[in-house]
Amino acid sequence: MNAVVTDWTQVVDAHGETERVPVLLDLVEREEAPEAWEELWDRLCLHGETVSPASFAALPRLADLAPATAQALELAGAIARGTLQHPDGEVLLAGRPEVLSRLRDLADQRLRSRPAEYDRVFGDLLALAGQHHWSAALENFDDDFYTVACPHCGAEVTIAIGDYGFYSAIRDWDRGDVERRELLPAQVEELPDPGRWMHATAVRDRQRRIAEGIRYLFGRAECPTCASVFSVADAYTSANLPPALETA
Ligand SMILES: [Zn+2]
Repeated sequence: MNAVVTDWTQVVDAHGETERVPVLLDLVEREEAPEAWEELWDRLCLHGETVSPASFAALPRLADLAPATAQALELAGAIARGTLQHPDGEVLLAGRPEVLSRLRDLADQRLRSRPAEYDRVFGDLLALAGQHHWSAALENFDDDFYTVACPHCGAEVTIAIGDYGFYSAIRDWDRGDVERRELLPAQVEELPDPGRWMHATAVRDRQRRIAEGIRYLFGRAECPTCASVFSVADAYTSANLPPALETA
């Protein structure tokens, strides 16, 4: 049961409307119209990323449905991932701590079952935990590249983590990644948060590629230009702070 009764006439969906979302939620709850899920996605997470006030208002209902319905957890995770796409997203999401905690537990349970879509659910869990830029940044460490600025000399440094190698380099338009330096992965015991729990979760679920990738992402890189050594995660975070935080 929801402690707060939502006044649906006050929250608009992605199409600027207020009537359809509560109707659709009732339909999927009674399992009367499976096609209603498609319209819910369209109204609550348009194109898989555009959220609206109705998206956040729907989270308690989705959390109620999630234990029995994989679709509900997936949609709730997508809404959490879309948080930064909406100017009030972080405030709207943070206003529902109890719902978030239930959804996080459900996503974590889902990960323990090591589903085929592990990478996506892992990203959902990060978003539900408020780690929005890591949720957006993390792919699957198959061939991930991150562009950061060296904190000492400002040079643009490319970080590769995956099948192409584990290195920092200067990306040259003609010659590819040149002046490569091997990355220095973090020791497990020195991993900072959120890298520590991300790594522990991946290890628990025997996701070796993700666990190793996290050690590199939260490790250190050498700048090919000035030879200083810096934290990859810190450099990536300062390059990708949400606009609101940059000016704070
Ligand atoms: Zn440098």
